[in-house]
Amino acid sequence: MDTKKLDKQYIANTYARNDLVFVKGSGSELFSDDGTRYIDMGSGIAVCSFGHCDEEWQEAVKLQLGLLSHVSNLYYSLPQVQLAELLCKKTGMSRVFFCSSGAEANEAAIKTARKYSFDKYGSGRSSIITLKNSFHGRTLGALSATGQPALQCGFEPLVPGFLYTQANDIDSLNAIYNKSCCAVMIELIQGECGVNPLSPEFVQAAVNLCKQNDMLLIADEVQTGIGRTGKLFCCEHHGILPDIITTAKGLAGGLPLGAVLFANSTKDTLTPGSHGTTFGGNPVAAAGGVNIISRLTPQLLAEVSEKGEYLKTRLTQCKGAIEVTGRGLMVGIKAERPASELLPILAQKGIIALSAKDRLRLLPALTIPFDMLRHATDIIIETLLGE
Ligand SMILES: *Cc1c(COP(=O)(O)O)cnc(C)c1O
Repeated sequence: MDTKKLDKQYIANTYARNDLVFVKGSGSELFSDDGTRYIDMGSGIAVCSFGHCDEEWQEAVKLQLGLLSHVSNLYYSLPQVQLAELLCKKTGMSRVFFCSSGAEANEAAIKTARKYSFDKYGSGRSSIITLKNSFHGRTLGALSATGQPALQCGFEPLVPGFLYTQANDIDSLNAIYNKSCCAVMIELIQGECGVNPLSPEFVQAAVNLCKQNDMLLIADEVQTGIGRTGKLFCCEHHGILPDIITTAKGLAGGLPLGAVLFANSTKDTLTPGSHGTTFGGNPVAAAGGVNIISRLTPQLLAEVSEKGEYLKTRLTQCKGAIEVTGRGLMVGIKAERPASELLPILAQKGIIALSAKDRLRLLPALTIPFDMLRHATDIIIETLLGE
């Protein structure tokens, strides 16, 4: 079957696909339809937390698949409860709403922030401050929160009530605040826009601004969560507990699952009938999530930090890298050449990586074996040097 030809004919033209058809994955290895082996330094955009087709994860998912594959959210569901308890106990958050994607998690967060304010103060306090160059998803609310005119163009009118400020500019953040604001929504490391970390000072300024004005702090940890930066959630690095954390990507290790974690402040905001979803917290996806979250031990997280340090140190020493950013196994590289030129060269050398704007982005599985990471790093460095 000619996958590429049929794709071009029948699949909506929303992706500039790379010229590869993967048919098999195992751990941090991918295999294309012609049998070529690749090292996966992208894990499906931080989705396959424990690599492809991890045995233990498969067992957990298969067990649930044979037991009960779906039950509507009108009934109780054991895997959902197990996963929610794990997430709350490991974070100090109080309650969880499950959905199926990052955008959907952010939609729920936006609705919660507005309702929290409406319940307490009435109408007129619905604006949310977000950052320029942010990425919060493609649905209309999440797209409106996303501070990128290029992605919004043609889809107007957007959802009103978003104010965009410059990342890491505390004066602009404080200046943009007005009495119509009910929340600040941030990615602690901007993923899609180049792996740009927020400064601890800026994060603290956002926390303070929220505290002073009874606004909610929403951390979009769709990409930075689930162990990616060496902690379960990146907010731990900042010593903060947001009012709302959204997550998705790596949560179920390869199955579609999103979650909104509510702190004590917001745990009662959503009430029966005020929000919901059909697929959210599906038992099979939730069982995958239970397996992933329960295996993110302090030891594994320490290994993520260690591998991240190794990767960053070696790349920083490389003359071909102008700037190396990120934390843990979320790394961005500004090079002489744009990522669009480097990715095909890397693929030819057997390395699957990602881009974030013009930067190279690496998001390998949290469990990538050290020798494979070293080999991939050698090839990336060689490529950055133009060899
Ligand atoms: C990927 C991503 C999203 C969107 O998630 P989807 O599952 O694609 O809807 C939102 N926020 C951040 C920070 C992301 O990285």
